[in-house]
Amino acid sequence: MTARVLIVDDIEANVKLLEARLTAEYFETLTARSGAEALRICATEGADVVLLDVMMPVMDGFEVCRRLKSDPKTAHIPVIMVTALDQPSDKVNGLQAGADDFLTKPVDDIALITRVKNLARLKTLTDEMMMRATTSEQMGIAGDPNSANRDAGKGGRILLVEDHQRSADRIIQTLSAEQHIVHEPDPQKALLALPEGEFELLIVSLSLSGTDGLRLCSQVRSLDRIRHLPILIIVEPGDDTKLLRGLDMGVNDYIVRPIERNEMLARIRTQIKRKRYADYLKSRIEESVEMAITDGLTGLHNRRYMESHLKTLVEEAGQREKPLSLLMTDIDFFKSVNDLHGHDAGDAVLREFAVRVRKNIRGIDLACRFGGEEFVVMMPDTDLSNAYMVAERLRQSIAGEPFLLADGTALKITASVGVSKLEGLQDTPQSLLKRADQALYSAKHDGRNRVVADAA
Ligand code: GH3
Ligand code: MG
Ligand code: MG
Repeated sequence: MTARVLIVDDIEANVKLLEARLTAEYFETLTARSGAEALRICATEGADVVLLDVMMPVMDGFEVCRRLKSDPKTAHIPVIMVTALDQPSDKVNGLQAGADDFLTKPVDDIALITRVKNLARLKTLTDEMMMRATTSEQMGIAGDPNSANRDAGKGGRILLVEDHQRSADRIIQTLSAEQHIVHEPDPQKALLALPEGEFELLIVSLSLSGTDGLRLCSQVRSLDRIRHLPILIIVEPGDDTKLLRGLDMGVNDYIVRPIERNEMLARIRTQIKRKRYADYLKSRIEESVEMAITDGLTGLHNRRYMESHLKTLVEEAGQREKPLSLLMTDIDFFKSVNDLHGHDAGDAVLREFAVRVRKNIRGIDLACRFGGEEFVVMMPDTDLSNAYMVAERLRQSIAGEPFLLADGTALKITASVGVSKLEGLQDTPQSLLKRADQALYSAKHDGRNRVVADAA
């Protein structure tokens, strides 16, 4: 992945070192020698991740972080604090200033790359989400674009796989203030619990007695339903072999024992935030696909979808030499419903009309709202006489029962229907629709509340 990392340090040698390591991993780098310069770069050029030294003259890293996080224009840029090993309080101060993660000097290679990658991905998701949320808002889709963005990564459902009771107790104690933890010492039972558990993060100890925690990680990554679940592993100091294997198989982040409380809290929040952003984006995409093909008022397919689908159905019917029929129906004197009872009553009638259309067709038939008070039903494998029967049944179900309005008023509604069928290989979707429309016109002309089949 390519991401722009801003390296902030007052000591030239430190800047050069970090720059070399990040460039070797194909990250793009920007550099700043002071807090003021860092703020200026973030506000103008922007960055995907900021690596921020704590100890700097004039304005220290905490102050820079606080300012970045309090400006709406830069608040979403992830900040990694580079803290001194002998100053544990730096992490607490960093958290209070709004830092997203920490690195300790001297900076370890694996840690540097893992953390920068994690936060760069989070940033990509955030950017994408803000863009989509803004677009949706412009399109008039309900929802507060900033609500998901304000997620603090707390209140997550986490499964902890750790069979050392004392270690498990300590982790649970640390996390339970802001997360929901389920503890499962047995990795195989954990695997069974995962698909139904709606977990947002899996924490696996790699010091399990008798089993290999990495096996569970690889099983999770190969199971369809849970393969995207974030995983955080807990490793023993110096066990880089296992750590690298874990990162290779797609483990998202790691913590080295002895576990540092604030570090663990921050890492977990990042993972949960990322999961939530990704889920939100996915649901937004599904929603917009749904919206593109559905009529909002009736829930039937819309005209655009119908037209593309009809093309496919016509081709299929031609190839398989099967009949294909279509009905077009239009509510009679619908304008007077609006005029006499109001537009909302008209909408209610349209919705109920759609319900009755659905009730009278088969699963493979496809109903859509063609426009206004006009509907089309496409019926594969159906000849003209059967299509006529369906149309007649629908007409009776409309005329037979009054439509009830919210205020109890019962309206007598009728509809006219035109039916047509596909005529040989030369026939086209347009002309099939046109003949149904002409038949519908005849039904209207002949007195309404009736079905007319196209004579072709
Ligand atoms: P006909 O029997 O000849 O079909 O008469 P009609 O009144 O049904 O036909 P006309 O085309 O004159 O009027 C259709 C009306 O449908 C006019 C329009 O305002 C109304 N209409 C179209 N879409 C909607 C809608 O989404 N909601 C409501 N309430 N009314 C709609
Ligand atoms: Mg009408
Ligand atoms: Mg009309």
